[in-house]
Amino acid sequence: MNKQVYLDHAATTPVDKKVLREMMPYFSDRYGNASSLHFFGQEASQAVEKARMQVAKYFNANLNEIIFTSGATESNNLAIKGVLRACYQKPPGGFLSHRVASKGASKPHIITTTFEHHCVLNTIKELEKENLIETTFINPKKDGVINVEDIKNAIKSNTILISVMYVNNEIGTVQPIAEIGKIIHETRNTKHETKSNGYPIFHTDATQAVAYFDCDVEKLGVDLLSMSAHKIYGPKGVGVLYIKKGLNIAKIQDGGAQEFGMRAGTINTSGIVGLGSAISMINDQRTTNNEKIKKLRDYLIAKILKEIPDSRLNGSKIKRSPNNVNVNFSRVEGESLLMMLSSEGVFASTGSACSSGSLSPSHVLLSLGLKPEETHGSLRLTLGKNTTKKEIDYVVKVIKRSVEKLRKVSGSVLKDYYKSMKHEA
Ligand code: PMP
Repeated sequence: MNKQVYLDHAATTPVDKKVLREMMPYFSDRYGNASSLHFFGQEASQAVEKARMQVAKYFNANLNEIIFTSGATESNNLAIKGVLRACYQKPPGGFLSHRVASKGASKPHIITTTFEHHCVLNTIKELEKENLIETTFINPKKDGVINVEDIKNAIKSNTILISVMYVNNEIGTVQPIAEIGKIIHETRNTKHETKSNGYPIFHTDATQAVAYFDCDVEKLGVDLLSMSAHKIYGPKGVGVLYIKKGLNIAKIQDGGAQEFGMRAGTINTSGIVGLGSAISMINDQRTTNNEKIKKLRDYLIAKILKEIPDSRLNGSKIKRSPNNVNVNFSRVEGESLLMMLSSEGVFASTGSACSSGSLSPSHVLLSLGLKPEETHGSLRLTLGKNTTKKEIDYVVKVIKRSVEKLRKVSGSVLKDYYKSMKHEA
């Protein structure tokens, strides 16, 4: 393979060379356990605390509100299960303990959206299956943006948690988090049974937003925020959960007392150093990178829509992450297109990397109201800070050629293919 163009930055990003340099000493030289009291341990602990400062600064949070985890999947699990667990515990943690104990009391209610990442959706669906919660799933509008009023109308007196992602990982649409935050704060003092007790709690999965959007937790009005280092040029296997001070949340993992007792397990020093380094680089580069990437994104969208007939952009063009292009090509099967592109050195995705390998239609595209057969010719191209115009030109040439080839496949073959496909409800 000659040329290689990576346009799958929403799946993961390369570790920045500077980030890697800062991480390196913590593997084989300064390898102490950050919980050890001796010099080696304290050296590691200082590096972790420096990273905590870098992260806290980025989110405008306090140091003890930053909990390091193994990534956004864990952060989201901790946020959702931790809030629920606290509810079932004795006061002051759990306002629902008295109701749950009493006969006929309603279960805690959680609101989320239909197009969250599977680590949020499946966590909530599992809790529902276990009969521990009631749920409401809100659909986005056709443009992939959640209507704030829909959230407001779904809030009930037993709503404990509202979880809405900041930027969707497949179509890149940006959700009105600050507006939702405002409504939740107003509701707290009126509609909710506990009045000033801090419910409903507001969580956002900001994994795809951190590199591009303001994540000041005060401005957003969030109580919990999840992120992952490998989406921001940091290493895989490390993330953060921001937990607002005083929030009713319980740990979900038992073990040591690391991370203020909220997350047991030996601290991933090198990973955390990498996360801190990566997040402080965004601080310096966000505006310049955003402008550059957005310009290239718009160039890519315009070129595809102009040069490839029967192509369409999925999701709002305006309320969209600077790095995301998600296009649909009618009469094309997305997985075949992906493989063809890969054979020519173009690396993209049909949906989130975690779901690829399954031929079920994307739950995100279905949530926009698309029919299953309309979802299958969709391609996600996500740009990075080093993507060039020359690469974009090459990619469009390859996509155009591949789409033309695939469309030559007879309509009946496609029809049979769709018929035989298992569709997710
Ligand atoms: N949430 C979103 C929006 C994501 O895009 C991802 C990664 N695809 C995750 C959560 C999971 O992140 P991690 O890989 O760190 O577990």
